[in-house]
Amino acid sequence: MIEEKDLVIIGGGVAGYVAAIKAGQEGMKVACIEKRGTLGGTCLNVGCIPSKSLLNNSHLYHQILHDTKNRGIEVGDVKLNLANFMKAKDTAVSGLTKGVEFLLKKNGVEYIKGAGTFATENDITVALNDGGETTVRGKNILIATGSEATPFPGLEIDEKRVITSTGAISLENIPETMIVIGGGIIGLEMASVWSRLGTKVTVVEFLGQIGGPGMDTEIAKATQKLLKKQGMDFKLNTKVVSGDKSGQRVKLDVDAAKGGKPETLDADVVLVAIGRRPYTQGLGLENIGMELDERGRVIIDSEYRTKIPHIRCVGDVTFGPMLAHKAEEEAVAVVEYIKKGYGHVNYGCIPSVMYTYPEVAWVGQSEQDLKNQKIPYRVGTFPFSANSRAKTNLDTDGLVKMLADPETDRLLGVHIIGPNAGEMIAEGTLAMEYGASTEDIARTCHAHPTLAEAFKEAAMATSSKAIHF
Ligand code: FAD
Ligand code: NAD
Repeated sequence: MIEEKDLVIIGGGVAGYVAAIKAGQEGMKVACIEKRGTLGGTCLNVGCIPSKSLLNNSHLYHQILHDTKNRGIEVGDVKLNLANFMKAKDTAVSGLTKGVEFLLKKNGVEYIKGAGTFATENDITVALNDGGETTVRGKNILIATGSEATPFPGLEIDEKRVITSTGAISLENIPETMIVIGGGIIGLEMASVWSRLGTKVTVVEFLGQIGGPGMDTEIAKATQKLLKKQGMDFKLNTKVVSGDKSGQRVKLDVDAAKGGKPETLDADVVLVAIGRRPYTQGLGLENIGMELDERGRVIIDSEYRTKIPHIRCVGDVTFGPMLAHKAEEEAVAVVEYIKKGYGHVNYGCIPSVMYTYPEVAWVGQSEQDLKNQKIPYRVGTFPFSANSRAKTNLDTDGLVKMLADPETDRLLGVHIIGPNAGEMIAEGTLAMEYGASTEDIARTCHAHPTLAEAFKEAAMATSSKAIHF
């Protein structure tokens, strides 16, 4: 039995570890239970961080192969060493997960390695990774157990031939062919990695556009065009209905959603990227009568309280977009609610970034969101082909698109496809958070020559006229 804590956190992912650090900083006695053996959860171990390492380095490799001659750079024999390519990823992961462990220690958090289960509403039994069991009692408890890949019915995941993102970040060979089920963010990021390394990738997407929920249709179309140019194939409006991996190649039966005829596709490897689902297995929620919604999410109120008020919940396991930075914001807010009685997350202002090349990033409402809600808007765009820095970089694909209220000029949404879109969206997020108008942005001096000038010019195009286009 461990001494009673002010806060016991189940799950050491972004939601859990950030809450642990924040609570430690607030002078609370905290324990954080994590069963994986390392901290950082999906994001640091098998999600954001390893995927971005592979995306960055596969882009570099692809660029060296295909985009140097026109820059006056002649390269000799270029070879990929897949084992070392993966090692670079592992180095990034282990550096960061160890860093988080250090931060927990620094903030006085007790890190318990094991799987936590509710024994009562205040007592968590932990099956320790090293064997044995302990119990920790919390005045407050935070569920931060995250999510897992949604499996495809009838197609067993082996992480070698039928893989989730976890298999896709650690394949030992470069497959000749790959089918990706689902053209959302995971599907397109992983398709990018393997396509750049030489795999022929086909993305099968049920909807009429790629990018998953939230991506503006105009931007999604532009993205698809650029990814196609890089060698990816797409089958939109097409649903995978069943799969069979008993033969040498994995077979998939697909149905065209809009009147086409059914067909069978096959590939060496199939990536299942049809979404993620909340993870509550083994948590013992049934022991305390906790309710889940129809999608398996823990039900909470606006202060992250479950129906048992001292048990709260944040991150992927509850409502909202499954994003690390959303989990992080909630983690800080929930500790503030516990400690001070108030906290805040602006759910209208959570950016999304897809780390393909070019990157795609957005915040706020899309044009179709506004149309669907019959909200009037004004739109302004600026292409990177008219931006001087993009021109010097020979990197001119993409555009910045802004949506604003026609009466007040208040910014309603920003959508960017282009180089460094993921960094540039921070400016849009800050502008929205402060309730900026597009004229405010247009009148803000931006350094020259920078890609961010495209952001300013898109704002000019929205409030009046761009100068350079
Ligand atoms: P998780 O990170 O899933 O952490 C939950 C932790 O709880 C896990 O470590 C688990 O082992 C532990 N746990 C569960 N049950 C128990 C138990 N009973 N006892 C003890 N421990 C338990 N998001 C972004 O914002 N940007 C990105 O670029 C991005 N890239 C991604 C790429 C991939 C391939 C994937 C899969 C996801 C990506 N995400 C990205 C999403 C991001 O990883 C999640 O939104 C984020 O990890 C959610 O954090 P969390 O703490 O809620 O859950
Ligand atoms: P997603 O929901 O974004 O996309 C899944 C796609 O699969 C959808 O477009 C859906 O229409 C399609 N689909 C579902 N069933 C299908 C079928 N039978 N046949 C064909 N298509 C089908 O989910 P994801 O890409 O798996 O990502 C999961 C979560 O992880 C998301 O919430 C995402 O935000 C998060 N994530 C974020 C990042 C990032 O921020 N860069 C990176 C990776 C993952």
